[in-house]
Amino acid sequence: MSKSFFVDTTVCTACRGCQVACKQWHDLPAEQTQNRGSYQNPEDLSFDTYKLVRMSEEVIDGQMQWLFFPDQCRHCLEPPCQDIADDASAIFTDRATGAVLYTANTKGLDISEIIESCPYNVPRASKDGTLAKCDMCIDRIHNGLDPACVKTCPTGAMNFGTRGDMLSLAENRLKASQKKFPYASLLDPGDVRVIFLVAFDPDLYHESAVASHGISGMTRHAALKRMLRPLTQIAGRIA
Ligand code: SF4
Ligand code: SF4
Repeated sequence: MSKSFFVDTTVCTACRGCQVACKQWHDLPAEQTQNRGSYQNPEDLSFDTYKLVRMSEEVIDGQMQWLFFPDQCRHCLEPPCQDIADDASAIFTDRATGAVLYTANTKGLDISEIIESCPYNVPRASKDGTLAKCDMCIDRIHNGLDPACVKTCPTGAMNFGTRGDMLSLAENRLKASQKKFPYASLLDPGDVRVIFLVAFDPDLYHESAVASHGISGMTRHAALKRMLRPLTQIAGRIA
């Protein structure tokens, strides 16, 4: 049964447990960083950082608000990055879960085109031109475990389960949140497998919190490739 995450930023405390758990599970190295006057660290996603808790401080209605956004690949239902790569040995969707997975064969592809196709600015390249991003902890899931970020989250911000369950949870938490935050919203819930709930304008959290050029507004090249894709391949996608 296909899977999804629900990320409730209204209860995220920015403890960064999810970020560290991701590094630990994937055996990714720490990065050399410097003080930039922000608790967000490192500065951005990278080949070695698949999960990043973004932090911003905003004055909203005269009150200072800390906005936390545990950013990662959204595992799009119709992933533009996969369409534009058009190479199943490099980028493919896992049938059982819907996870969008990258392999070492991304090396040698036109990676700038793939990076540009992502509406959420997620894929990152190594020096040798291999791409990497969140893999949904696919090895854990296929062994009956939750993704490491979900397992470690102490507040209930990170949730994971069947797509139906996560959509129901998201709708329920949205309704509850709107009593306190009237402008709370779910971000692109019909397009992605990582559904964020935010209390305020999503642009205040991160410039790519919502799709920058839309799943349906992907680059013309990717759209053309999708139109030309065999019907059998389209039917294989799991909603
Ligand atoms: S968020 Fe970006 S990298 Fe992740 S599946 Fe969608 S297009 Fe690909
Ligand atoms: S582990 Fe949970 S509470 Fe901590 S930063 Fe991640 S999402 Fe937020």
